[in-house]
Amino acid sequence: MHELGITQSIIEIAQDHARAENAAQVLSVTVEIGALSGVVPDAVEFCFEACSKETLLDGARLIIEFVPGRARCSACAWEDQIDQLTYTCPGCGNLSLERLQGEELRVKELEID
Ligand SMILES: [Zn+2]
Repeated sequence: MHELGITQSIIEIAQDHARAENAAQVLSVTVEIGALSGVVPDAVEFCFEACSKETLLDGARLIIEFVPGRARCSACAWEDQIDQLTYTCPGCGNLSLERLQGEELRVKELEID
């Protein structure tokens, strides 16, 4: 599963930060996941509990902030929300969509102890 590796890297990033701060444990981790990132938030949540065992994140709360996809068309100036499978502009049909947001996949915040 694709999300397993992603969850493991989220945990690694969080642990590295926590260690750098001399933290004993991570209480919560906030992760931003964009609609266009190809990552399924539910699957990350599912992997998190198992992957965080015996790490500094054992028992930590995983907070997922979902970022909707947004794009603008450089041909007709159409701008709106899009999903992962939208490649052509709904306004003019051009393949000139510029993705403005939704590709995020990052650890945004950590609460440590
Ligand atoms: Zn357009």
